[in-house]
Amino acid sequence: MGGREATMVLMDENGKRCDGRTVDEPRRIMIKAGGLKNADGSSYIEFGDNKILVGVFGPRDVHPKHMSDTDTGILRVRYHMEPFSVGERKNPAPSRREIEISKVIKEALEPAVMLEKFPRTAVDVFIEVLQADGGTRCAALTAASVALADAGIPMRDMVAAIAAGKVADTVILDVNNEEDQAGQADMPIGYMPNLEKITLLQLDGVLTPEEYKKCIQVGVDGCKLVYELQKKALNDKYFGNKGD
Ligand code: ADP
Repeated sequence: MGGREATMVLMDENGKRCDGRTVDEPRRIMIKAGGLKNADGSSYIEFGDNKILVGVFGPRDVHPKHMSDTDTGILRVRYHMEPFSVGERKNPAPSRREIEISKVIKEALEPAVMLEKFPRTAVDVFIEVLQADGGTRCAALTAASVALADAGIPMRDMVAAIAAGKVADTVILDVNNEEDQAGQADMPIGYMPNLEKITLLQLDGVLTPEEYKKCIQVGVDGCKLVYELQKKALNDKYFGNKGD
């Protein structure tokens, strides 16, 4: 963030972005519910060039037992990037960034999951980033919601996510890797469309109060588009005879 590649043309004179998209056009998004037979629920997402697999287990006994809560279930999330997911081999050990993203995804999912129905148990969400191209936390959060629903975990709502941002002094939807590196702001947003509540909001960069409001509006509208694709993925598996 902040003009590390200041010479790069992020928006041309026709308002087209570096990958040819218009300002409010998301990348191609494909979501599949299911796919892993050994997980209780699973999903796979392609979000532009991001490719992410999610497996969900539970509700199940908590080990070690003292981590359990007698009043409610707990949610545990592990976001992990494969060594081959980025251009230069990534160390497979958990980085500070992966620990942070695991935490924000967990906190973004918690308002949606009815954990109070399963005291003393844990629901585990394992996120494997196979290929990363900017916006993996939003793509992972979106896929994790689908995998939780696929596992039959009761939920108040889905959480759909996408980033808004700013490049070339213009508010844009769905920040890609180049825009993230060289742009002016990146604002990942997670949103529950039926409850109309934001569960993830981060900001890397600087925005004016007007741009901030516009980013939220553009991001929430984008989340509504993502939500339609989450529903389609679940419908295709459970009602479209395309399931596993
Ligand atoms: P997000 O993936 O949610 O946008 P970041 O803003 O931290 O999270 O990362 C932006 C992008 O930077 C990632 O999607 C990925 O393409 C790239 N990236 C992250 N970590 C590494 C790494 N260790 N090596 C190379 N590229 C990385």
